[in-house]
Amino acid sequence: MKITRYCKIDGTNLNADCLKRAAGVLRWGGIVAFPTETVYGLGANAFNAEAVAKVFAAKGRPADNPLIVHIAREGDISCLAREIPSVAYLLMDHFWPGPLTLILPRTEAVPDIVTAGLDTVGIRMPDHPLALALLEKARVPVAAPSANLSGRPSPTTGIEVLRDLAGKADFVIDGGMAKVGVESTVLDLTVNPPLILRPGGISKEELEAVLGEVRLDPALSLQEEGSKLKPKSPGMKYTHYAPKALVTVVMGSTGEKIKTLDRLVREARESGMRVGLLLTEETARACREKVAKPHYLEILGSQYCLETIANRLFGALRRCDRWHLDVVFAEGVKQEGLGLAIMNRLTKAAGHRVLWV
Ligand code: AMP
Ligand code: MG
Repeated sequence: MKITRYCKIDGTNLNADCLKRAAGVLRWGGIVAFPTETVYGLGANAFNAEAVAKVFAAKGRPADNPLIVHIAREGDISCLAREIPSVAYLLMDHFWPGPLTLILPRTEAVPDIVTAGLDTVGIRMPDHPLALALLEKARVPVAAPSANLSGRPSPTTGIEVLRDLAGKADFVIDGGMAKVGVESTVLDLTVNPPLILRPGGISKEELEAVLGEVRLDPALSLQEEGSKLKPKSPGMKYTHYAPKALVTVVMGSTGEKIKTLDRLVREARESGMRVGLLLTEETARACREKVAKPHYLEILGSQYCLETIANRLFGALRRCDRWHLDVVFAEGVKQEGLGLAIMNRLTKAAGHRVLWV
């Protein structure tokens, strides 16, 4: 077990001494957890295969799940990608820094371990002052997956990172709560029209407004779950984000959801299980006095404010563990805008158990 240095920094103190030390750790082959606008990342110098191997080891991440490379300047992309179509520049202008990862053919400078042997590399510029300052100071591109143990929900606070990676990471920079709360959208630019491999912080509708046509990897749609379609993004085949409780996503009209939730909570309680509900504000209000009392209730936010729901989702899944819940019923949202990313994470947390009522 190694000693993990922990440092809490205010997002405006970009000259903090510990930021410089963390940048040095990155440059010289250590691994550093840092905040981004999506979730916390666990980074290593992307050009150093040995350093990147430490990231896989610390997370227990399967070797076939490639990492996203983070950069602070648009120009850095040319060291990583060998063909950059004009559409990439258009997207960078619109969405960088921000939660959009571009998949492009890689250069030989990128070690195999980063891309899990693929001929492409995922690149993004995070929209967080501390992440950008760290990347600038490290002066190397940083390969960074989410800073959780593999299979666990991605961390959105520094404390959650410590719970997973104390004794494993060299450095943890705590910059407060992540703003977006779900990971970046992964967009494959090696095909035409571009293909969304993972829904995330930039919605399909936002991309379409700039690009015209954008497709969604068919393996991702809810209706296709359970089918044998293989997602093009290797990471999407793993059941991540899962708390220890058995999660079920509940979809349908409010009236039907209330009746079903009441029955499910009663049944769970009668069989001695600890039960939790993750609901939208509207349903929680409609449930009052109509649904049996769960052991834990979390209101994720209004169904009309998907940003709030995205922001709270991973924290809520982690809190299910802290409450030692056995079963959790989570309300689904409409698959529009950020709702696509929310439903993707929720259904994965639920191992694709979706109950339509
Ligand atoms: P994480 O950083 O933990 O959010 O995971 C990164 C995600 O990006 C995973 O789902 C990967 O499969 C995906 N990804 C990274 N690089 C590539 C690539 N070259 N091709 C397809 N998907 C990628
Ligand atoms: Mg991850």
